[in-house]
Amino acid sequence: MRKAFALDIDETICDTRRYWFAELSQRFGSPRAGSLDDLIAHYEYTTNVAEWQTPEARAWLSAARADDRIHRDLLAPIPGAVAAVAQLNERFDIVYMTMRPDSIVGATRDWIRSQGFPVGEVVASPSYLFDGERPAWKGRELMGRYPQVVGLVDDHIDVANNIPVGYQGKLFLLGQPSAPRSDISIIPCADWSEVTRQVAIAFPRELTP
Ligand SMILES: [Mg+2]
Repeated sequence: MRKAFALDIDETICDTRRYWFAELSQRFGSPRAGSLDDLIAHYEYTTNVAEWQTPEARAWLSAARADDRIHRDLLAPIPGAVAAVAQLNERFDIVYMTMRPDSIVGATRDWIRSQGFPVGEVVASPSYLFDGERPAWKGRELMGRYPQVVGLVDDHIDVANNIPVGYQGKLFLLGQPSAPRSDISIIPCADWSEVTRQVAIAFPRELTP
């Protein structure tokens, strides 16, 4: 049976953050002058923008995170992800593993297909979990699927920090400059071309006679 690779969705293959920053700026005001790129580079997460922590803004974002139409139709892929994942899929099955609530799995599956990503199981977190419980949920899922699932590509430090001690697979940490811990194998990757390069090093193809 072919081994599999797990892929996170938001900020790993899907540029979800750009949509939230654009919408929150328009609806609740931009906290500083400059382009959308500048805003994202400065704050990184919407939770770091004080202006967007009002009850109204939080309620809008909370509802939007569970909105089928947004997740099916309105999000763009991360640059380079479609081609890199196609290449990964030549050697590995793909499992999508996301902290999104399982209520939007259908819309997520439609988006994956419409963007040209390979078909694969979508593992989403139970809707009843609190946000703070989701990274640990994901770490346990990943641990439980090893060695069938040999690695994960993910952007989130909280996920890296919540993978159980003793995990034998590899985490390719996208867009982060360094590994937050050294007891498991974490490979920081600036972008998807670096992921492709590092996967080839970590999982060398067997020499064919
Ligand atoms: Mg993510």
